[in-house]
Amino acid sequence: MTTPPTRPQPPPLPPDTSSLTRVHLLAGRPLFFPFPSGALTYSCVGCDAPCCKGQPIGIGRSRELVTIQQAQPRAPLFAVPGWNDGPLLSLTPPPEKCWFFDKNGRCRLEHVAGRDAKPTGCRLFPFSRIVTMGEALAVLPDLVCPVSVTPTAERALASTSSSHPSSYDTLALEMSRTQLPRGGHKALPAPADLSWDEALPLERHVVAAAADLLRAAPPPAFYGAFADLQHQLTSALLGVDTKPSAMASLESDIRRFLAVTEAASVDGVVELVALTGVLRLTPIDGAVVPRRAAPAMLVALAVLASVHESMRGSRRTPRTLLGLWRTQGPLLYALAHLGSRPLPLSPAALDAALARYHAPRRALVAVVDAIRDNGARSVAATVDELLRQQKDEFAPPLTADAVAMLHALGRILREACTFTPI
Ligand code: SF4
Repeated sequence: MTTPPTRPQPPPLPPDTSSLTRVHLLAGRPLFFPFPSGALTYSCVGCDAPCCKGQPIGIGRSRELVTIQQAQPRAPLFAVPGWNDGPLLSLTPPPEKCWFFDKNGRCRLEHVAGRDAKPTGCRLFPFSRIVTMGEALAVLPDLVCPVSVTPTAERALASTSSSHPSSYDTLALEMSRTQLPRGGHKALPAPADLSWDEALPLERHVVAAAADLLRAAPPPAFYGAFADLQHQLTSALLGVDTKPSAMASLESDIRRFLAVTEAASVDGVVELVALTGVLRLTPIDGAVVPRRAAPAMLVALAVLASVHESMRGSRRTPRTLLGLWRTQGPLLYALAHLGSRPLPLSPAALDAALARYHAPRRALVAVVDAIRDNGARSVAATVDELLRQQKDEFAPPLTADAVAMLHALGRILREACTFTPI
């Protein structure tokens, strides 16, 4: 008997550990790119150029202001102090189009005087949101630009190429060429449970794991496994116990609670994996979420995004994820803690958090009262159990009022409660 010939298999891709082993520096400070190298793509050809319409530009006095003033002498009249809460001046071009945007869609400053004449923020755009995370500088994409996640066929190539527009090498080189200052960048508030210097290795690890997932074939079909990895890494760093597949079972609980049956598309999961590092650094209500809560909130986001992309008339882009994260954040926090047992930090903290709401609905007050009683029970009830005690109020399909109460509950849980482990 002869053995049938086997088709040669391509060698497996080596794990992308570049973001763990190679650290780019800017004037001696480590840079952190919270997305896999080369994972984000944008094309200025055919774009409506929202970046050049009414977007505030950070302007250095010694170089950029001088250049701009030569081309547009009256521009200084429209300067405003404190760009991005930092020491730079801010100049906002007209909302219809920048003074220097020519009829061919090019920047006239760059076209006439060379790339070095272009303001730094424009030159780096969309990777122009630089924030400090302890000693490191994080480089966040500005999603005013309609970035997309690099298509499948190009992804493996882009992640090993040093010249892709969003590769770490290209971005770091451009940052050094613009002579971006070492200091003076807005500080990203640290999460409540770790300093940035403690959390940065975790964030780097999450991005490296995302890079591996994006290079895998076939691409990930659901988010739960990646969330579980984040949960395990976080628990190990914080020294707390975790159950295997805790995030995968949380996803089932959230789907049951919301009666969601829509499955996420593979492209939707890939986008969420690629954007995970950025979302983990994106504040909600002005605060970066605790590292311990981030994986569970991303699971809740995965469920909500699967509904959103299935709605008639929806078009999914990375901006959808960022928008849901920012606007639905408190709801995500409540859903992320469905299986957790909340205890009040203090009765006064609970009262103060509830007092923010003018005429809160009866069901919300009842849930808050139950949280107050939770500490006196032999076994504290979970958020899911406390909500189900309200019978129809939180039964699926949820009403808009029920969702609004969950937003309020999410804020109350975040401000005034502690939990037994997720
Ligand atoms: S918004 Fe992005 S893709 Fe559009 S012109 Fe500006 S940088 Fe290019």
